[in-house]
Amino acid sequence: MEKSRRNFLIGTSVVAGGVTIGGYSETLKHAITMQSKGMKASDAIYGNAALVEMHQKDGQIKHTADFIIKPSVCNGCTTHCSVRVKINQKTNHVERVFGNPYSLLSSDPWLPYKTPLKESFKLTSAWNENGLDMRSTACARGNLAYEKLNDPFRVTQPLKRIGNRGEDKWVSISIEQLLKEIVEGGDLFGEGYVDGLKTFADMKTLIDEKNPDYGPLANKLCVIGTADEGRQNYIVHRFVQSFGTVNFMGHTSICGLSMRAGEAAYLDDFVGYPHMKPDFEHCQFILSIATAPAQAGNPFKRQAKLLAKGRSESNLRYTVVTPILTNADSIAAADRSKWLPIKPSGDLALVMGLMRVIIEEERYFKSYLAIPSEASQKALNDYSFTNASHLVIQEGKLKGKILVDAAKVPLVIDAKEGLLKSANDVLEADISYQGEVSLGSESYMVKSAFTLLKEAVYEHSLSYYSQESGIEAKTIIELAREFTSYGRSVGVDCHGGTMHTTGFYTTYAIMMLGALVGNLNYKGGMSTGGGKFKDFNGSCYNLLAYKGKQKPFGTRIDRTRKAYENSNEYKQKSEQGMNPYPAKDAWFPFTNALESEIISSSANKYPYKLGALISWCANFVYGQSGSEHLIPLLKDPKKAIPLFIAIDPFVNETTRYADYIIPDSVLYETWGVVAPWAGHLTKVSHVRYPILPSPNEKFSDGEPLSMDSFLIALGKALKLGGFGKNAINGSSDEQKFDFNKPEDFYLRAFENIAMDGANPVPEASDEEISLAGLEEYIPSLQRICGDNWKRVAYVMARGGRFAEKNSAYDGQKMTKSYTKAIAIYNETVGSTKNSITGEIYSGVPRYYAQRLYDGKKIDMHSSEFNLLAFSYKSNVLSAASASIEALRDTRYTTYIDINSQTAKLQGITHGDKVRIRSFDGVTEGICRIKEGIHPQSIGIEHGGGREGEGAIDITIDNKLIKGHIVRKTGININKLGLKDTSRLNTATLSDFVVGSNARQAIPVKLEKI
Ligand code: SF4
Repeated sequence: MEKSRRNFLIGTSVVAGGVTIGGYSETLKHAITMQSKGMKASDAIYGNAALVEMHQKDGQIKHTADFIIKPSVCNGCTTHCSVRVKINQKTNHVERVFGNPYSLLSSDPWLPYKTPLKESFKLTSAWNENGLDMRSTACARGNLAYEKLNDPFRVTQPLKRIGNRGEDKWVSISIEQLLKEIVEGGDLFGEGYVDGLKTFADMKTLIDEKNPDYGPLANKLCVIGTADEGRQNYIVHRFVQSFGTVNFMGHTSICGLSMRAGEAAYLDDFVGYPHMKPDFEHCQFILSIATAPAQAGNPFKRQAKLLAKGRSESNLRYTVVTPILTNADSIAAADRSKWLPIKPSGDLALVMGLMRVIIEEERYFKSYLAIPSEASQKALNDYSFTNASHLVIQEGKLKGKILVDAAKVPLVIDAKEGLLKSANDVLEADISYQGEVSLGSESYMVKSAFTLLKEAVYEHSLSYYSQESGIEAKTIIELAREFTSYGRSVGVDCHGGTMHTTGFYTTYAIMMLGALVGNLNYKGGMSTGGGKFKDFNGSCYNLLAYKGKQKPFGTRIDRTRKAYENSNEYKQKSEQGMNPYPAKDAWFPFTNALESEIISSSANKYPYKLGALISWCANFVYGQSGSEHLIPLLKDPKKAIPLFIAIDPFVNETTRYADYIIPDSVLYETWGVVAPWAGHLTKVSHVRYPILPSPNEKFSDGEPLSMDSFLIALGKALKLGGFGKNAINGSSDEQKFDFNKPEDFYLRAFENIAMDGANPVPEASDEEISLAGLEEYIPSLQRICGDNWKRVAYVMARGGRFAEKNSAYDGQKMTKSYTKAIAIYNETVGSTKNSITGEIYSGVPRYYAQRLYDGKKIDMHSSEFNLLAFSYKSNVLSAASASIEALRDTRYTTYIDINSQTAKLQGITHGDKVRIRSFDGVTEGICRIKEGIHPQSIGIEHGGGREGEGAIDITIDNKLIKGHIVRKTGININKLGLKDTSRLNTATLSDFVVGSNARQAIPVKLEKI
């Protein structure tokens, strides 16, 4: 919290105390004159309240000279809301953050894009009480995230470790020394020779001649990013693809991959991995499982706002299924909002039970499921279609494949004629067919996708699903009936609560509920998002193409995107007449990337050992369940990562083990282009540019050190394509531009956004340029964007480009609709084998108990480890909030939450110190007893128990910087994480199909200390 505001609050509490007690004339005098400790308050009425940024009189807005309001993007969580930042012009300090009224992530309704900037300030002011409707907010975290900018623990110079990894001792070095050492290598730490990056910038030499499928030496560099906060295209497409490595990872495997992958299976898109979200504004009923809007989820603020509006102003009803009572529930909404407590990991059984009731009672939308193709959907004026009627081959070499004709169009049985036909020629197909069909000279035993789903659902009785989920059969029946009572205007949602060993099938099953009522693309149903304006590849520039872009090839370190059956290992075993199963370790063919597999895979040299790791704002040691097992591998450069370069503004739990730390820019000092994940139905693109100077070390041209500027310098030092002279492509092959500074890239992306479509944005007026404080960018805008510069300024002044709210629907259909078939049966999944057991995965959702990769069941009900630990998202803290100490005024610490019945049985009382043990981990904390938590569980709010970002002591240049206890306090569930004993060495427990890190439903026991 900003200092003068704190003084005001301290002042008011002193005043209140004085008046209550009475008789203290000095105190009373100070109260009357608003004095505190002899210091007179700034204002006799408002005390030391923050000064206002503008005045309004009769609708006329006058900005004060002291402040300027500039747009940016918040990085307080992965929602990345568009915000407005109030900057004190004298001190260059941020004093407050508001939402951006033009952006749907901060406002609903949001302002029409053409609203003049001046008008936007008026409409969010008290004039005619407009601010009550149009006021645009940031959440608690977003309001305080700016504390990071001036954090005393912030790294502003390149650091090199002295001593062993993890000793937290650093020395600052020059940019020149940094670049020389990491490029050239050498005996950098007195521990022997270390290969520099130039050794691996090699696309010709193979890692292993005996295993050419591993690819070139370039793959020995692995790069880890973070959630895409607007710069991922930069690091992925520029640096990684100029270097030529296949090994880039985002953070999804330790965040919400089970949700992403389950939705990708449902939408049959394992390349784009699209998100899905309910149309919160028009849903009549929402079933949220393993996530809780208003408590968590993405977009955090927008969901919360629409949920509150829906339950108070329209007819929304919803049920939230989680182990813990959250902010999603509202007593004021009476029975419109319901919380259904469930034990951790009980969700898959619950949803299979729901489907059993829906199918048994024939409450599914049969005529919708019978639409077999996009052509039929269009002819019938429907909104989406599924492959429920497509025929899956049951025997022979093509087992698991969908039967198609010569043109690869699926074949179906016409429901009216009973004949096998192209799906394009049938309006109503048989969804229950099973039997033999003939195609040319061949005949095939087939079953329809819906038949396979039904068989999987019927594998267990309702009472079994009830027993496995812990939810009474009566409740499952009631919920299934309610879910199917609102037509197509129902939404389903899930997220991080599915991060357990069967999370993939859990999400696939949850989404499948939507297919049974036909909610995709339907107003009030489910959406895959409204899209964005063309940014990195647009009408003015293709920033993703350039001379020298490599074509990375080979096996990834995490064994994703490739089937084990395509490996040399499989080939060799087969050629030698051996059973190729089990493989040495797990493979994940339809997963994009697994950050959680890097360290153990490299240490196991399976498929190979890495040479170097560059991490950018990644923190898997804090975020990965079971990462404790990886620390010894990280600490010793000989074991997994010989050279570890971290780009980060802080020394966090992971960067502590780096060899070098390069400071990144923070929040409002950064560039970026970012669009919301989902949860929006109209086009949105947010832009971010430095609105504050960076305190970081500068290059000789004055450019501050950041991820962007560092990678340009590193790219040039390694002589990679994509950086420097003529590295940027214009709209034609002849047009080339130099790439020497981040603005060369980002301003061009902004220009693509401004010029997208038939109607580019208008030009900003001089008044708007001044109001938005864009004067400092005029020379760069004119140099880079030429005649378009004022249009780019228009986008920058508003924080992005936003389509109008009324563009969301075309009648009952969402304007941006998903066009592929929903996969009732997913052929990719249904024809992939588990690399250890050789079993073919189920192509439809199916019930599995919690299990290891090889199928061994995890004992979830042992008499010793008798509780299930889960983590839940905080509405205050986040992984990115450790350094925001003012947030601790709201949430000082985190606890071990248990139910009062559990506490009684264990002899524990509120506030007791307890130890939690899992099979593989242990941690301690303070117990908080609640009624709103499932009795079989232990809940831990995510965001506490830090060991980085100012929570521990570090030494830089022999100067000790003491850690703050307020950052260290609380508990981190990931210390309880399990190893998968069916896999090689230290692999941490994950979903058995897609490899998402399993942090939920960890069997544990409690001990009172
Ligand atoms: S939800 Fe809050 S913390 Fe997250 S990006 Fe938005 S304002 Fe920032």
